[in-house]
Amino acid sequence: MSRRILLSNAVVVTMDAERRVIHTGSIGIDNDTIAFVCETGAEPVEWRHVETWDLAGRVVIPGLINTHTHAAMTLLRGYADDMALMEWLEKKIWPFEAHLTPDDVYIGALVACAEMIRSGTTVFADMYFHMEGVAKAVAESGIRASLSRGLIGTAAQAGEDDEALREAVRFCERWQGGANGRITTCLAPHAPYTCPPPFLEKVVDAASAHDLSIHTHISETKDEMAQIARTYGGSPVKYMLRHGVFKRPTLAAHCVHLDDEDIDILADNAVAVAHNPGSNMKLASGVAPVTKMRDRGVVVGLGTDGASSNNNLDMIEEARLAALLHKAVLFDPTAIPAMDALAMATIDGAKALRMDDQVGSLEAGKQADLVVLSTRRPNMAPLFDPVSNIVYSSNPGDIEHVFVRGEFVLRDGKIVAFDESRAIEEFRSRSARLAQEAKS
Ligand SMILES: [Zn+2]
Repeated sequence: MSRRILLSNAVVVTMDAERRVIHTGSIGIDNDTIAFVCETGAEPVEWRHVETWDLAGRVVIPGLINTHTHAAMTLLRGYADDMALMEWLEKKIWPFEAHLTPDDVYIGALVACAEMIRSGTTVFADMYFHMEGVAKAVAESGIRASLSRGLIGTAAQAGEDDEALREAVRFCERWQGGANGRITTCLAPHAPYTCPPPFLEKVVDAASAHDLSIHTHISETKDEMAQIARTYGGSPVKYMLRHGVFKRPTLAAHCVHLDDEDIDILADNAVAVAHNPGSNMKLASGVAPVTKMRDRGVVVGLGTDGASSNNNLDMIEEARLAALLHKAVLFDPTAIPAMDALAMATIDGAKALRMDDQVGSLEAGKQADLVVLSTRRPNMAPLFDPVSNIVYSSNPGDIEHVFVRGEFVLRDGKIVAFDESRAIEEFRSRSARLAQEAKS
C-alpha cells in the first residue's frame, strides 16, 4: 500500500545543484521517497487529497550527515577535557574504554542516536568496536548509518589483529543493507600510526575481496606527521597511497596537516574528507586546509568526531564552526559562506559517503530524509535568508520533526521509536559504573 504525505507552505531549502530555495514550497512523500518538490499550489492533482501537513512558518532542509563520529563515546562525555591528546588517550580514554561491554556500546550509541536525531542528523558514519551494539541502536532508532569496526595492527598478542579483521568482515557481511537498507558498512583501518604496512595491506585486500570502502583517520596531529616521517618517510597521505588504501573508495577523517602534494593525491584519488572543526579545535590539532581542498575538487563533509572530543553531536553547530573557523584563520569573511557550510553538512557529506544518489538534497527520486525547523523562536526572526539563519542562528531546539525514509523519527520534538528517558537513565548508570571501573 502506498503511503503519501504532502508537506506544504514551507520554506524548502533543497540543496540541489542550483541550491534552490523555494519560499512557499511543497514536498510530496511517497512511502520512503520524495515524489516531487514544487511551489505550493503546483502539486499534481492526484495529490490534492492526501494527508497534508501545513508547514507555514517552518523551514525544511535535507537531513544532516555526520561523516565522522564514534557514537558510543557519548558515555565519556565530559569525563576528561582540556588535556594533551596522548595523555588524554593513555590516562583517561583508553582505560575507560577497556571496560566497555557490548551492552554499554549499544546504550551509548542509542543515546547518541537520540542526540543526533534531535539535532537533525539522519545519517552518521561511525567507527568503533562492539559494532553489533551500534547496529542494533541504529536499527531501533530509525536513523541511517555507515558502520565500521575500527582496526589497529599493533596488538600485543599474535593473531589478535587478524581476528579483529575477520570479525570486521563478518560484521560487514551481516549488516550490509541491514535495517531496511538504512545500514551500510565499510572497513576502518584506524590510522597510519596504528596500522603498520603488512596489516594495512591485509585490510585493503579484504576491502577489495568484499567490495567494501574504507573509513580512516589521516593527518590529525603534528605528532602523527613527525612519527610517520620518522618511521616510514613522507606524509601520512603518501603512506596510505603507497599501501594501496586509495584503490578503495576512501573517507579520511581530519586531514588537518596537508601540503599541496597531499591535496593533489586526495583529489586525484577521489578521497573524501570528513572535516571535524570542533574536535580539531578542542584537541588543538590545528586547522584543516578546507578551502584549498574544496578548490582542488576534494569532497569535504563535516563530522563531530566522538562526543568526548567535541563534546556534542550537533551538526548545526559543526556547520557554524566550519563557517567561522576558516574565516578567522584566513582573515577572509568570504571563506566558507553559510551555503557552503550547509552543503558540507548535507549534499557533500552524502557524496563523501557515496550516498548522494539517495540522500543529501531534497529532490524527486531521493529518499525522504528531512528536517523541519520552526522559525517561531526569537533566534530565528526575522528570516531574510533561511540558510543564514540555519547556519548562524539556529540550534536543535528549533527542530520540530525529522523524517528518515519518509517516517517520523522525531515528531513534535519527541523521539518516536524508543523510550528516550529510559535509555538516558540506563546510560547514566552505565557511564558511572565505567568511570568507577576505570579508576580501579
Ligand atoms: Zn575519530
